[in-house]
Amino acid sequence: MLAEELKKIIKGEVVSDEKTLEKYSHDASLFEIKPKAVVFPKDVEDLEGLVRFAADKKMQGKEVSITARSGGTDMTGGALTESIIVDFTKHFNRIKNVSNYSAVAEPGVFYRDFEKETLKQNLLLPSFPASREICTVGGMVANNSGGEKTLSYGKTENYVLELKVVLSDGREYAIKPLDKKDLEIKIAEKTFEGRLYKKVYDLVRENDVLLKSAKPAVSKNSAGYYLWNVWDGKIFDLTKLLVGSQGTLGIITEIKFRLIQPKKFSRLAVIFLKDMKFLPSAAKAVLKYQPESFESYDDNTLKLAIRFLPSLIKILKPKNLFKLAWEFLPEFWMILSGGIPKLVLLAEFAGDNQKEILERLEELGSDLKSGRFKFRMVKDPEEAKKYWTMRRESFNLLRQHIKGKRTAPFIDDFIVLPEKLPDFLPRLYKILGKYNLIYTIAGHVGDANFHIIPLMDLSDPKSKEIIKKLSFEVYDLVLEFKGSITAEHNDGLIRSHYLKKMYGEKVYKLFEETKKIFDPLNIFNPGKKVGSDQDYAFQHLAKR
Ligand SMILES: Cc1cc2nc3c(=O)[nH]c(=O)nc-3n(C[C@H](O)[C@H](O)[C@H](O)COP(=O)(O)OP(=O)(O)OC[C@H]3O[C@@H](n4cnc5c(N)ncnc54)[C@H](O)[C@@H]3O)c2cc1C
Repeated sequence: MLAEELKKIIKGEVVSDEKTLEKYSHDASLFEIKPKAVVFPKDVEDLEGLVRFAADKKMQGKEVSITARSGGTDMTGGALTESIIVDFTKHFNRIKNVSNYSAVAEPGVFYRDFEKETLKQNLLLPSFPASREICTVGGMVANNSGGEKTLSYGKTENYVLELKVVLSDGREYAIKPLDKKDLEIKIAEKTFEGRLYKKVYDLVRENDVLLKSAKPAVSKNSAGYYLWNVWDGKIFDLTKLLVGSQGTLGIITEIKFRLIQPKKFSRLAVIFLKDMKFLPSAAKAVLKYQPESFESYDDNTLKLAIRFLPSLIKILKPKNLFKLAWEFLPEFWMILSGGIPKLVLLAEFAGDNQKEILERLEELGSDLKSGRFKFRMVKDPEEAKKYWTMRRESFNLLRQHIKGKRTAPFIDDFIVLPEKLPDFLPRLYKILGKYNLIYTIAGHVGDANFHIIPLMDLSDPKSKEIIKKLSFEVYDLVLEFKGSITAEHNDGLIRSHYLKKMYGEKVYKLFEETKKIFDPLNIFNPGKKVGSDQDYAFQHLAKR
């Protein structure tokens, strides 16, 4: 019925067959929610019409809403809804321009395709996530994604110059930073946009002190609305609020990114830790030499990589299969001999001067030797690719191959200050130890941001209880250490309910006001960020 109505107003495709609805019932989270229709908008006019359609229905008291979806790799349930999914990958997939350290692209462009184009001009968007082969640039903006280079370059929020967004009045707007004079002109406009700017400006100014103190004091954060970043006293920038808002404030139709020139040379050091207790001292030793990236994966990830080696080889696309097999010999040997490390650390050093990188590596090497750490300085780029692929693909391998149990991301993305790790980690292991779970740990050691992914049987009622209890225990611990419950992956269905506790009632109220200013009828991705319902989320745990 809804699909039939939509077909009358949409030039693109509207699909509602069972197979399609089943496909769009999942993202990479542990939830399952079946939409009523999937729309592939042809152009901006389609999107504007769709928003007006949803607003009309809401005015009639009907529960119609719009959830944007691009790659569908969200780990929080952010891309799931019972109502209308809007998929951007079919028609909104053009890279319009790459020049002058910037690129303009539509949200449905896959990062892997985007990077191919930017690298032709020796330019890079350095905030790409580990899901770089399967996610889009739109999802990266909407989730404020980060990845292996974030330690040096920051997250996606640092690279959004301008956005085009369809807002809740059903019109597309160009959003970019404004100075005080232009802001005043905008506010004086007696339009939806003018009123929106005024309300947000008043909100951030009147609550300036509260908001500045609410900003988590860690290097990355994807939780909540980043109201503290909108107005710095000189520049008013609404893109800072839209980035990371998970499609709850409007629909992104175009992004202008700032790009960087990648460093000319890089070399990888791999450090093997026998026990997690050595992590804080190893991390300290490495960080002194300012690696561009500093990542990790654990023994379970390593075993998994060996177990599913054929899938890994497909991704690696080796020129010489024999050479690649040879490169995996040390890993085979570690597993056979029982000498498998608990944690593998990857520290990549980059620069425009090869000699300087080598000197840094040599100094690091002698520090690691005196600290009795086992390590390798990787010379061959193919071998470095092997390590990076194991790090990037660990979660995907688990998602695709484990039978009987499934990946359950719910303590998948917390962050604390690196200097707090020696106190934080023992407390974390104590909590994890109570639950007797199998899990992998990978993550961004440099930022003290960890991805813990348990494997669980969600059809077992005990799993639901464990997820609830364990997530609260870990989030409470993270809060005690003044961290954030999500550094990159965002809030979605899994974490939004905890935002009130994380930020406190007053700040949460400002989040609610923000949502109302942008989306008074609650059209855009309801139940994420604000108005979330933990019971609803847990009623929708995936069955498979
Ligand atoms: C194997 C794997 C590894 C991952 N590694 C990382 C990692 O290292 N770092 C990291 O940050 N994340 C990671 N993720 C999570 C995820 O891949 C990223 O958040 C990614 O950027 C999401 O992109 P997507 O295109 O799949 O977005 P989707 O899943 O389609 O959507 C993500 C969110 O953005 C919203 N959205 C999508 N398009 C629009 C639009 N046009 N307008 C408004 N809102 C929109 C959706 O409603 C949803 O809330 C990983 C996921 C997987 C499966």
